[in-house]
Amino acid sequence: MTVLHLIIRLCTIIACAFATTLPARAQSVLRDAETEALFKDAIKPILVAAKIDPKSAQVVLLSDTDINAGTSFQDIGINAGTILAADDINQVIGVMAHETGHMAGGHSSLRDGITKGATGISLLSLVLGAAAVAAGAGDLGIALITGGQTAAYNDALISSQIVESQADQAGMSYLNKAGISGKGYIAFFEKLQSQEYRNAVTRDAFSTDHPLTTDRIASLQERVQKSPAFNTPIDPTLNDRFLRIKAKLAGFIFEPERTFNLYPEKDQSDQAHYARAYAWHKSSQPEKSKAELNWLLTRYPKDPYYLETKGQLLMEGGLVQEALQPLRTAVQIKPDDPLILMEFGQALVATEDTTVLVEARKVLEKSVRLDPDDPFAWLQLGTVYDKLGDTPRTALASAERYRLTGELRRALGSAKTALAGLPRESPEWIRAQDIQVLTEEELKKKKRRGRG
Ligand SMILES: [Zn+2]
Repeated sequence: MTVLHLIIRLCTIIACAFATTLPARAQSVLRDAETEALFKDAIKPILVAAKIDPKSAQVVLLSDTDINAGTSFQDIGINAGTILAADDINQVIGVMAHETGHMAGGHSSLRDGITKGATGISLLSLVLGAAAVAAGAGDLGIALITGGQTAAYNDALISSQIVESQADQAGMSYLNKAGISGKGYIAFFEKLQSQEYRNAVTRDAFSTDHPLTTDRIASLQERVQKSPAFNTPIDPTLNDRFLRIKAKLAGFIFEPERTFNLYPEKDQSDQAHYARAYAWHKSSQPEKSKAELNWLLTRYPKDPYYLETKGQLLMEGGLVQEALQPLRTAVQIKPDDPLILMEFGQALVATEDTTVLVEARKVLEKSVRLDPDDPFAWLQLGTVYDKLGDTPRTALASAERYRLTGELRRALGSAKTALAGLPRESPEWIRAQDIQVLTEEELKKKKRRGRG
């Protein structure tokens, strides 16, 4: 589990059945190689059933602990809270199927007729809200976002019920086509509906008029029971992977005390060891954290994610040299995983050993080639170029990073510096020029919008 950075473009995520009345908000994406790999495998049959190219859509984990999910064009965002609340992978797949229903139905598109009014109104205040948040007035920002939403919400309620029901029906068809039982889907709905559960969550993301109605569940229930896949058991391999990432996420997000309650020391399951590795780490007990991971690695010495976690926690604990070996092995096992490559590169940089800079450059260049949208990887790569005295490439890496974090003026400045130093017509020179052109256009657009 690594760095929380990217901000998802706020205006395109719309409210969903899985909880909140806020249609859109700034979201941090929680990057984790293991979680992303599971999401990819879990949603694939759903996307195929929906006739969406699995390569064109992606599922990201959002750091929000509310139980929610949303769609944004070709992306589905699933909140950490949803993973932590789900009991099995089929419940998560149910959420994914529902979100795919929104995606296929074009509900996340601003051009969509049904949601246009509501999205339009809240968008306006979201811009204000986002600006306020950016200016450091966090609470004010949230108030502005909520205010706009309340105004739009009443009008949108009826149409959102239609949209939700459409997504339910579509989601159920995908599950049927994919031969996955909808039992998990229903179970998750019922769980959300139960008063007991709602009282248990600290921040109740539901509103009383939320369109998660008994009617809606009843009509789904009927379809689920009629489905030939009704009694198809859960895929045990996929479910084991789910239990692992759920435990890891709990360890990463919760206070250690809560993690130890959920995964007490008498629990000797793999996932409990995994969760406790994070909890000990967060309790500043590096030896105990390492012992949990060593327990796992004795049994699964070639597991790339246990190796990755060990390296990452060692690195965070300041034991950079010791972190290199597990990360290097993880890269050997998963040579095309951009996140693991990034972490290995980061560890190499952190050694402050100049003899590994060339290796670090190679590793990080591969990481950004595989995933050019990770600002943190660009930051690491920029650091390496800088240490190697390569000023134009340092500037280009900064331009890439600022482009991703929305710092357009800085992106433009860095792109110009890169252009001045890079060999004309080289691929990097062309890339710097692209960033310059795109950023200038974006800035012009912003200026026009500012004038109203
Ligand atoms: Zn929905």
